[in-house]
Amino acid sequence: MKPRVLEIFKRLIAFDTVSSESNLALIEYVRELLLSKGIESLIVKDESGRKANLFASTGPRDVPGILLSGHTDVVPAAGQAWSVPAFQATLKDGRIYGRGSCDMKGFIALAIDAMLEAADASLSRPLQLALSHDEEIGCVGVRRLLDVLHLAPLRPFLCIVGEPTEMQFVLGHKGKGSYRAFCRGQEAHSSLAPRSVNAIHVACDFIAALRQSQQRLQEQGAQDADYDVPYSTVHVGQIVGGKALNIVPNLCSLDFEVRNLPADDLDQFLDQMREQAETIVREAKRLSSVADIEIETLNVYPGLDTHPSVEAVRLLKNFAPADTGSAKVSFGTEGGLFSQRLNVPVVVCGPGSIEQAHKPDEFIEVSQMDAGERFLEGLLGSLKL
Ligand SMILES: [Zn+2]
Repeated sequence: MKPRVLEIFKRLIAFDTVSSESNLALIEYVRELLLSKGIESLIVKDESGRKANLFASTGPRDVPGILLSGHTDVVPAAGQAWSVPAFQATLKDGRIYGRGSCDMKGFIALAIDAMLEAADASLSRPLQLALSHDEEIGCVGVRRLLDVLHLAPLRPFLCIVGEPTEMQFVLGHKGKGSYRAFCRGQEAHSSLAPRSVNAIHVACDFIAALRQSQQRLQEQGAQDADYDVPYSTVHVGQIVGGKALNIVPNLCSLDFEVRNLPADDLDQFLDQMREQAETIVREAKRLSSVADIEIETLNVYPGLDTHPSVEAVRLLKNFAPADTGSAKVSFGTEGGLFSQRLNVPVVVCGPGSIEQAHKPDEFIEVSQMDAGERFLEGLLGSLKL
């Protein structure tokens, strides 16, 4: 690893950019670093002004660029048993430890270094950098940046999302929708239970409908054998309801998610679930008019399905480490949003393993950083005139 990469990497880890915190100090550090080579940054802040995305481009302005994309936020370290400081890079046994080392400040350090390198070269295509915030809470922050980039006269030629894939080319992942259903009934003395609408019972009926929808997706929905679970999945993860055993509960809320293959449409799924909810409510209203199921969308991000024969993907293969295969993964990335909003081919490829992400004593192997460095050097070399 080049000393400059290590220096940048250390600085990046030292910023506490847990999703709940501001990332402005990190963004300002990167902005100044790029500016030292004459690269201007576009800063897109969120509503609160406490967080920002950054976009920068170096090279010709009239040709679509290669966009290196990463998120600056990290998951919390509090409550995890760390044996090294979480927000300080620790080099030990060929590894670099620290929160975000693998997910994904290692790639960001490499991408910044590549930008600085590119600033000194004359390029056939621009090299570009996109840094986002609030990825870890549902790919929230990047959407504002995409609103801006969507309006730009030129779309990128290719987007590389540097999430940890051990430098494998990942061309697909499932999308995800998460939802909360508020099931309402009418409070009553439990001795009169059959005369009232029990919100928990309504929720159970809705859960049964969700489980039937899983069955349908499994049997009739899209199939993709590249995934561990080859169909779209439905799951209820949390349920809250009731105050005391002798009260018929009037409210029960449940959180459910769908992880969909890109070929299965989330809106269509949700429409079906609303229809099912209406049927359940119609029945319950015979006992009480307050019976209701209201579904609120918590978060949605699209899946990714880049075709391997796309020109940009084939070109990229030239710089990939020799053992690079292409795969699909079960975790989501911002790649689906880039692909959907900018209509650009997206490859997810970055150093480190998702196995080490989000855990105490998160680390990245130095050899992975080296592999990432060689990859970006090859890529940059191919852009040089
Ligand atoms: Zn990540």
